[in-house]
Amino acid sequence: MSHIVNLLTDEGMPQAATGLQRVKISESETPVYPFAASGELISLHYLDDEELGYVPCGGKGCVLCAIGLHRTEHVLLPVYNPSTGAVEVLLASTSQRPGSLLPPLKAILKAGRPVVVFLTRNGKKFTVSSGAIPADADHGESAIAAFNTAYAAKEFKLESVFPVYDADLLKELPSVKSKRKIKGLE
Ligand SMILES: [Zn+2]
Repeated sequence: MSHIVNLLTDEGMPQAATGLQRVKISESETPVYPFAASGELISLHYLDDEELGYVPCGGKGCVLCAIGLHRTEHVLLPVYNPSTGAVEVLLASTSQRPGSLLPPLKAILKAGRPVVVFLTRNGKKFTVSSGAIPADADHGESAIAAFNTAYAAKEFKLESVFPVYDADLLKELPSVKSKRKIKGLE
């Protein structure tokens, strides 16, 4: 499927990326400063094809729901990452199982003090610890203020950290195609 784009006016071009990134959590500690108590709720599917990973649920008429692919609810929360000097988006499953990210994060936010949170991940298990932000450390005030202004003006949504996938493109992925065939959707 193709459509006309105008390179001079950008008419028809995909929506401009905000440059917003997801926080990368690995086996090595990633420090972040949570500064917002509210985030966005998002439904995601997980696809192994072409290492796509999380793909937002398309809602009504979703190609991935139609083949019975499991859907999970996640919270997107903006945090400041002092390692990159930018506000990034933390993805936390709403699952309450041991090793989930959300319950310890909630407890830290409830305490209400500005803290640095250290995140590590081993497979699906997260470890969360926190401490005071040293007075002479980068507190990220200007990046956080710029983010808050733009976000309050609805210049972007946190979900823009995920690419928007075309339904026809998803239908061509091998795992999706084979399930569609079995379900008589092709
Ligand atoms: Zn779906």
